[in-house]
Amino acid sequence: MNIILLGAPGAGKGTQASKIEEKYKLLHISTGDIFRANIKGGTEIGKLAKSYIDAGKLVPDEVTCDIVKDRLTWNDAKSGYMLDGFPRNLFQAQELDKFAKIDLCLNIDVDESLLMDRICGRRVCACGESYHISTLNGATTCAKCGGELYQRADDNPETVKTRLDTYKSQTAPLIEYYKSQGKLKSVKSGAGSPDEVFVQICAILDR
Ligand code: AMP
Repeated sequence: MNIILLGAPGAGKGTQASKIEEKYKLLHISTGDIFRANIKGGTEIGKLAKSYIDAGKLVPDEVTCDIVKDRLTWNDAKSGYMLDGFPRNLFQAQELDKFAKIDLCLNIDVDESLLMDRICGRRVCACGESYHISTLNGATTCAKCGGELYQRADDNPETVKTRLDTYKSQTAPLIEYYKSQGKLKSVKSGAGSPDEVFVQICAILDR
């Protein structure tokens, strides 16, 4: 099964993706993680992506689509995958339809008022796990792998505002795009725990 995880920044896509990966053994492909790994590795793609990411803007479509297109040819993607952070606009969704067959688009629907606090309080680990300062109890290392936690450079109020605007104008229209293809399923994420969202996701995936 090939899945898209859709949702605003801070909706919990990464958190749910790692739960889905663990339970359903579905490969997690995050374009944000790929860009961050490239920035860390000092690659050409990383150098190009950094200026866009730091400004809260989307990395150009051609670069992003090429990365995903290539990633989906790897052997580990043959038995299914979930895309987290891609597609992020209509062009990317239409391109994706040319090189992949998507079965389901899972939309995580979150009240906008919760997003700023969620993102600015987020601490992440290089392994992909993410936490919120309100539940860390002062811990500075990842409970899963022991890695050092850090705050993403783009998780600051100014950049987050741009990212939320970009989401609204460019990514949110994809909800209609996948609805019209009959592939959309939405789950609601409120102030409750990630586990409550995961229960809703499992109900959909188990069907
Ligand atoms: P994320 O980790 O999904 O929040 O992505 C972090 C940043 O990476 C985004 O704010 C964009 O600058 C960039 N990025 C990730 N995915 C895409 C995409 N599909 N298209 C363009 N830029 C992206």
